[in-house]
Amino acid sequence: MRKRIGLMLAVLLILIAAVVLLDGRQDRPQGKFMIRLLLSADRSTLDISLEDYLIGVVLAEMPASFELEALKAQAVCARTYTLKKYFSASSHEGEADICDDIRHCQAFVTPADYLKLYPENQWAVDKVKRAVMDTRGEVITLAGQLIEPVYHSTCGGHTESSQVVWGTEHCYLQGVPCLWDSSSPYYRKVANMSVEEFRKNLNLDAKTPPIPGELESTENGTVAQIAWGKIVMSGQQVRQALALPSAKFTIAVNGDQVAVTTRGNGHGVGLCQYGTNGQAKQGRNYQEILHYYYQDITLYRVEY
Ligand SMILES: [Zn+2]
Ligand SMILES: [Zn+2]
Repeated sequence: MRKRIGLMLAVLLILIAAVVLLDGRQDRPQGKFMIRLLLSADRSTLDISLEDYLIGVVLAEMPASFELEALKAQAVCARTYTLKKYFSASSHEGEADICDDIRHCQAFVTPADYLKLYPENQWAVDKVKRAVMDTRGEVITLAGQLIEPVYHSTCGGHTESSQVVWGTEHCYLQGVPCLWDSSSPYYRKVANMSVEEFRKNLNLDAKTPPIPGELESTENGTVAQIAWGKIVMSGQQVRQALALPSAKFTIAVNGDQVAVTTRGNGHGVGLCQYGTNGQAKQGRNYQEILHYYYQDITLYRVEY
C-alpha cells in the first residue's frame, strides 16, 4: 500500500513539474511559484507568488489570534485549494487562476490593507506569514490527487459527511466528533422572529402552524428534510430562507414568537476552524489536526 501511494505521489509530482514547465505562462517571473489573482473590486489581475497570496488568504479566512498550529492547518488547506484551481481550466477572466470573491474562491486581503484596518496588528501579519512559510509547499493529497479541502467555521460538536450535505461521496469527508469548538460564538445561537415573519420567509400560508409536522435530522443534527403539510423543504433551503448560520436547527414556538436554535456556523463538512483551534490549544499539531478532519489523506510537500 505504501509503495502504491509512493508511486502515485511520484506521478503527481511529475504532473506538477510538467504543467509548471509547459503551461505557456513563461511571461511570469521565474524562481517562485506565481499565480494570477483576479481582484473583484476593479476586475484587475495581480501576479503574485503563491506564498504571498496564501498570507493574504489566511489573514482573511481565519482570526490571527488562533493558535499557530491552527493557522498552519488553514494555510495547508488554502494552498491545496489554490493548486487545485491552478491545475484546472481557468474559469476566470484575464486567465486568472483564482479570484478574491468569497462566494466563488477564497477571501484575500493584502497585509497592507489589513494593517490599514488594524494598525496595531503587525504581530498578526508576522504570525500568519510564519504559518505559511513553515508549511511551504505542503498540500493534502489522497491517491496522488489534491483533495477538495473544504472547511467551515464551527461544526457544533460533530462534522457532517459530504454525502449528507451535498450528495457527493468523498471517503476523506466523513463526519467526525468535534469536542473542541464549544467556545465558538457560533456554537449555539437562537434566532427569534414573529410567527408572521417566519411564515413569510418560508412562504407558508397564514393557516399553517409554524411547528413542522415532520422534521428528519441526520444523526449529527443536520436537518435533512422538514415538512409543513404538503410543503417539504431541505434543511439547507430553510437555512437560506431564514438566514440561519447552519442547517443544524430546532424550532420552538411561544405565543406569536418563533425561536430557531442553531448549532454551528457553515456547512459542517471537512475541517472545523474553531475545532482546529481547540485541538491546537490542547497541543495537537497541524498535521494531526488535518488527519483528523480529512480521513486517509497524505500530506505531501511540492517542491518549487
Ligand atoms: Zn473565483
Ligand atoms: Zn467542530
